[in-house]
Amino acid sequence: MFLTITTTGTPEHPATDLGFLLHKHPDKAQAFSTSFGTAHVLYPEAEDQRCTAALLLEVDAVALVRRGRGKGRGGAPDAALAQYVNDRPYAASSLLAVALSNVFSSAMRGVCKSRPERAAEPLPLRVEVPALPARGGPGLVQRLFEPLGWAVTVEAVPLDTEFPEWGDSRYVRLVLESAALTLAEALRHLYVLLPVLDDAKHYWVSPDEVDKLLRAGEGWLPGHPEHKLITSRYLSRRWSLTREAMDRLELIRLAETDDSDVEDIDNAVAQETAPEAEEKPTPLAVHRREAILTALRDHGAARVLDLGCGEGHLVRELLKEPRFTEIVGVDVSVRALTIASRRLKLDRMGERQAARVNLFQGSLAYTDKRLGGYDAAVLSEVIEHLDLPRLPALEYAVFGSARPRTVVVTTPNVEYNVRWETLPAGHVRHRDHRFEWTREEFRTWAEAVAERHGYTAEFRPVGPEDPEVGPPTQMAVFTQAANDPKTANDPKTAKTAKTADENQKEAKAA
Ligand code: SAH
Repeated sequence: MFLTITTTGTPEHPATDLGFLLHKHPDKAQAFSTSFGTAHVLYPEAEDQRCTAALLLEVDAVALVRRGRGKGRGGAPDAALAQYVNDRPYAASSLLAVALSNVFSSAMRGVCKSRPERAAEPLPLRVEVPALPARGGPGLVQRLFEPLGWAVTVEAVPLDTEFPEWGDSRYVRLVLESAALTLAEALRHLYVLLPVLDDAKHYWVSPDEVDKLLRAGEGWLPGHPEHKLITSRYLSRRWSLTREAMDRLELIRLAETDDSDVEDIDNAVAQETAPEAEEKPTPLAVHRREAILTALRDHGAARVLDLGCGEGHLVRELLKEPRFTEIVGVDVSVRALTIASRRLKLDRMGERQAARVNLFQGSLAYTDKRLGGYDAAVLSEVIEHLDLPRLPALEYAVFGSARPRTVVVTTPNVEYNVRWETLPAGHVRHRDHRFEWTREEFRTWAEAVAERHGYTAEFRPVGPEDPEVGPPTQMAVFTQAANDPKTANDPKTAKTAKTADENQKEAKAA
């Protein structure tokens, strides 16, 4: 595994300053032993005009396997041979990344006592990796490096030059060039993105990898268009770690984009006058919130529950309209609520605004006294997140126990899925959706709910309606039937209010 970094210079700023910046003298080759082999640093050229440092990694496959086994992840004995015979020694870009951070740790932090000004300023840089395993191919390599200010040259390496018909290997030859980056930035890009491209299992992934990723990603990862893919691959697709990292990145982004969030910027751009922007369709989430606000206005709601409020987008819209005097966001996810509270800047809000809004954690699968007495409740894209057997519990908590005058429910229309170009056939829109309903299924459910609890249901399409498959989102607006014996303060209803326990038993029985 081999990587070179080249810079060019002038007599006042000789290229050989690279040696100071890397803390490795150009005149001698140096070797560093690491837990999986030896890293060599040498300078194939070191002139004032041009200087190249090479990092060569000699991987000891045996040490590597032993190390893995020492950590209790060695695998079955008959798998042992496969562990020795693999491409690690030649193409271990995740090991190269570790070596980079071991050998050039000060340079990665931008520390250089003897040339501090050079460390802080952009340099003309050229990085070359002759054989880089790249899952996702040249296209992904470009998508990862170009947004960071690199000019990218990437060529697929054929499996065998004598047999071009065999196609390309999973290796590419990569050349990166930029005059806009500091050496520390360049090293941190490589440290994160080389293993991301390799996408092999890193045996060392542990919770502190999240810290390492965020440290190395400081200043460039939060805003990177591929930050999701980078995070997930870097953390070997460990869901809990990825999620933690994504949350922390989101918080960094929120802190950076001070007065507006990313979505607002998107929308603003979509509505700008630029002709090509006009063609960009309004996001479905915007249609949905507009439809919900209209329904709430139509029914004169002032005190509103946003049940399953998620990251607080609707709460934010509600806050903009003084007619909504009290807004309560409820969600089962503390993570979502934390993001909502950051997004809404609850801590910095004026007293009067702050008095209108409240966020709290709660599960809709249980009756909850705090939800009683509101004009309206919104369940926007929430019901499909519950397992079907839990749905009666939610139904009871909202329509039986909380009983707001109006309930607005939105959910995907599964029939519309064939119109999403990016959605593979038969897939739901979100991995956490437990079900998605046809218009008929939703109507049947909603009408039965209305019937059971003394409401009437009215149906409204949300988003551009397709003549065949209907709108992308479907919405039901439930209104309490006037003079219905089952309405709010009926003591009989109150008595039949079930406890969380009973609900649970019921759901289990179902
Ligand atoms: N209403 C928001 C978020 C929809 S995502 C919007 O329209 O954009 C679904 C949300 O429901 C998630 O935030 C999830 O945490 C929440 N949720 C799922 N099950 C829940 C439950 N049992 N109780 C409360 N919230 C729940």
